[in-house]
Amino acid sequence: MQCPKCSSEVRDIARFCRRCHATLRYECPSCRHEQRHGGTCDKCGVNFLKYVAAVVSAKQADADVIHERIERRSSLLANVLVLPFTVGIPLMRKFLAAKSKKGGS
Ligand SMILES: [Zn+2]
Ligand SMILES: [Zn+2]
Repeated sequence: MQCPKCSSEVRDIARFCRRCHATLRYECPSCRHEQRHGGTCDKCGVNFLKYVAAVVSAKQADADVIHERIERRSSLLANVLVLPFTVGIPLMRKFLAAKSKKGGS
């Protein structure tokens, strides 16, 4: 086949033109269909640029959620670490008081 850009002879299976590096094959990011032109997929009609942009923004949203989760977890961890001091000591005092009362009677 011929390169549509520089008209040099290129192999049929070539993904890029060896001479001008023009893209000769486009792979649909959604259904993996390969075609000679970019833009939209012949098979599933997905717009390549829009699809890639959507995937990237979705990944960013995922990263934000993960970040939020880590922050929540660390604040939970802080609560757990503080718990023995805020709840544990009064409980222990009660427990000891009850024990000493029992021992006294
Ligand atoms: Zn070319
Ligand atoms: Zn497709």
